[in-house]
Amino acid sequence: MIDLHTHTTASDGSYSPSEVVETAIKIGLEAVAVTDHDTIEGLPEALKIGEKHGFEVVPGVEISAEFKPGTMHILGYLVDYKDPEFLGKMNVLQEARRQRNPKIIKKLNELGIPITMEQVEKEAGGGQVGRPHFASVMVANGWVDNHNQAFNQFLAKGAPAYEGKYRMDPHDAIQMILQAGGVPVLAHPFSLNMESEDQLADLLKDLTEAGLAGLEVYYPEHTREMSESYLRLVRTLGLCPTGGTDFHGASKPQIKLGKGFGNLAVEYGILEGLKQRKAK
Ligand code: AMP
Ligand code: ZN
Ligand code: FE
Ligand code: FE
Repeated sequence: MIDLHTHTTASDGSYSPSEVVETAIKIGLEAVAVTDHDTIEGLPEALKIGEKHGFEVVPGVEISAEFKPGTMHILGYLVDYKDPEFLGKMNVLQEARRQRNPKIIKKLNELGIPITMEQVEKEAGGGQVGRPHFASVMVANGWVDNHNQAFNQFLAKGAPAYEGKYRMDPHDAIQMILQAGGVPVLAHPFSLNMESEDQLADLLKDLTEAGLAGLEVYYPEHTREMSESYLRLVRTLGLCPTGGTDFHGASKPQIKLGKGFGNLAVEYGILEGLKQRKAK
């Protein structure tokens, strides 16, 4: 079994890249992909520790794209993450985050939460700052009871301390991954908040014409029915099915590496499909 969707301290996960890989080895996975939000900073360490243990680490990234009504994330697998053009575009995304963070602080302060940028940066431990870091600081200081409350009352899209940031157009995100030799995959389609399989099919057709190569069929929040629906679309459009847990460690404590809520199981053959797609 494998896990093709994990986050590290390079973004908003609580395990370092080495800890993710070592945990994957310990629980007997055959491969793990590191897919941090809008950054590849965790990949060198993850690949190095994988090599040391003779364990397969798949270089990846998860790009936040512009989309309404829901959230669109595009995973890029087997990318040449040293490609200068690719790194340049990553830097634009990093800068967008750096500009957003003080605005969230300001909104929270105005709402009576005395949070500081220093606290949030400390929480991020030198990695990229994301909303879960704000939530963790708020919980640790007793300003909210838990992560969910931090998001629902303050940080979620539509909540009063939400601050949008520049996001890539989905077609540009797909192109960026393709240009770096990667395989673009639409992450957790349930989060798009589509109304029907037909509506999702239309969107996927458009993205597939733009170069999308896969769809994340297996995911902790997907019901059996959802995965079956996604598998039908994958077959119709000739996409690679993929799967992963979206492991974050402490900030998503219910989700276990390789298992999700407990019963997720992604076979190694799924990764072979991605490799075949890359070779084409
Ligand atoms: P950011 O990349 O800073 O926009 O933060 C995105 C991360 O915040 C996602 O990976 C989720 O882990 C988390 N997140 C987003 N919305 C929610 C929500 N409504 N409840 C809990 N966590 C959320
Ligand atoms: Zn995350
Ligand atoms: Fe995501
Ligand atoms: Fe993720």
